Amino acid sequence: MSIYLDNAATTPLDPAVLTAMTPYLLANFGNPSSQHQFGREAKAALERSRKIIANLIGADADEIIFTSGGTEADNLAIVSAITCGKIDHVITTPFEHPAVLQTLKSLSKQYHTRISHVKHNAAGDLNLAHLEYLLRTNTRNLVTIMHANNEIGNLNDIAAIGKLCEKYDAVFHTDAVQTMGHLAFDLSKLNIDYLAASAHKFHGPKGVGFLYCREGSKLTRLIHGGGQEKQVRAGTENLPGIIGMTKALELAYAERHTHQQHIQYLKSKLISDIVSLIPDVQFNGRSAKANDSIYTVLSASFPDTGVDLISYLDAAGIAVSGGSACCTGSTSAVLQALGADPDRPTIRFSFSRFNTVKEIDQVIEKLAVVFQVIAA
Ligand code: PLP
Repeated sequence: MSIYLDNAATTPLDPAVLTAMTPYLLANFGNPSSQHQFGREAKAALERSRKIIANLIGADADEIIFTSGGTEADNLAIVSAITCGKIDHVITTPFEHPAVLQTLKSLSKQYHTRISHVKHNAAGDLNLAHLEYLLRTNTRNLVTIMHANNEIGNLNDIAAIGKLCEKYDAVFHTDAVQTMGHLAFDLSKLNIDYLAASAHKFHGPKGVGFLYCREGSKLTRLIHGGGQEKQVRAGTENLPGIIGMTKALELAYAERHTHQQHIQYLKSKLISDIVSLIPDVQFNGRSAKANDSIYTVLSASFPDTGVDLISYLDAAGIAVSGGSACCTGSTSAVLQALGADPDRPTIRFSFSRFNTVKEIDQVIEKLAVVFQVIAA
């Protein structure tokens, strides 16, 4: 048995994505910066991809910068805002991904940027009145708040946050790595300066992503070299990866409602099956609330049975995680910020359109053995 329920860490490549990429690994291998026919074809494919992605999310092609993934996109946004935007105060949350928090930590030392955290409650809901207070009482603000949290799935209201940023003339960056391809975006209607996305979270290849940088927002160079990507991101573009990401995003949005319904059904079923089996379960943050969390993530804390649940499920062929893959082994800062009981083992189940009802039944069967309940 092999069941993959760790899709917030990474998703399997859609075979149709591989088919779209293959010609760009073989016959169409040109460098988009070359002047000959191979290069021109590669350049045309690159710009076609930029346009397709931009159209899918309500952006202009000029606003899309291809990167090596979500981490680089977050870094590029934050470094650009702080170094060129004359930012001296950053407003963020303890729930952000290390790609954001570590970047801020490093820059705040160098640029003496002050950092404030938006208040939140035990479910992780952000206090937007406090965000407004922070915006009102400081100047030259950068707000960096993620769209959906990767461990507990909490969704933040980026439309409302964007409006507040507009009102107080603040720069707004959002990490949409867990929502791109899963929720619809119309960036022409949202006040967002920078948005980060990563292909491997929506059945595209690893090592490729993009930064949406709204026209007029500042951009600086992270990687020095050639003039690719509007002179801000040197290096030969990962064209097969970009083609794959484009195909993956097209597929994700073509059937988004069907995928969402299917995945939400699996998540709801897992929630109700777990509650029947283990009434003492606790769901972290808003992860069990359909409207307040991304439908792909469920975080549950269990009564301690002395069994290492993640290793036990792994031995049974079921892949889940305790939280973020990049922080394996360390205590989750997200759960700590929520004040979750550290003695209760936590599992993050994260789903994709390739999961099935049968797989959820098999997970419950295995959990039933640990919790000494015979599955019906
Ligand atoms: N931001 C969030 C919320 C993530 O979940 C991840 C990956 O886990 C990243 C950023 C980093 O993306 P990448 O793996 O493409 O660098």
